[in-house]
Amino acid sequence: MSHHTEKRLEQYREKRDLSRSSEPEGGAAKGSDSPVFVIQKHDASNLHYDFRLAVDGVLKSWAVPKGPSTDPREKRLAIATEDHPLDYAAFEGVIPEGEYGGGTVLIWDRGTYENITRKEDGLQPMQQALAQGHALIWLDGEKISGGYALQRIDDDEDQWLLIKMDDDEADARRNPVSTEPASVATGRDLDEIEEDEGG
Ligand code: MN
Repeated sequence: MSHHTEKRLEQYREKRDLSRSSEPEGGAAKGSDSPVFVIQKHDASNLHYDFRLAVDGVLKSWAVPKGPSTDPREKRLAIATEDHPLDYAAFEGVIPEGEYGGGTVLIWDRGTYENITRKEDGLQPMQQALAQGHALIWLDGEKISGGYALQRIDDDEDQWLLIKMDDDEADARRNPVSTEPASVATGRDLDEIEEDEGG
């Protein structure tokens, strides 16, 4: 792992006691042509969905209280959180009570994504698009697919909106957050993960 990536994961490691939690330390990344995305349902003090995109060696992360919508009219609040290591995308299990983020984590959706953020002069690099507070991505997941916009609300804040773009994958009648609760990795629900791996 590069020094640059190490530096960016400092905050992730500072918040956690990784000798007590089974969350990954952040090891070497496996190579892939398309960058990955993952949405982890996290039953912490407040239930939320952690939306993560692999960008430049880390997982850029947002906590989405209501989870993603497939309805373009539903703008979902997404609060930017610290970068996570790439191997966090494979984490499903229980973070011990009393530890940072204590609670159960379920891999709700995952897949690859494509950056489709365009400027007049062509494709804008993802890193740059996020720094400027506006990115468009095409998700290819098991539950969620098609275009999504990530739009920062205020330059000085961590608050963003996650909005489904109005394309063929948009569907106002679907509500996968409530109708498809199980893990795409193991088929388990939150209770089953807690029974299997808790305490
Ligand atoms: Mn979380």
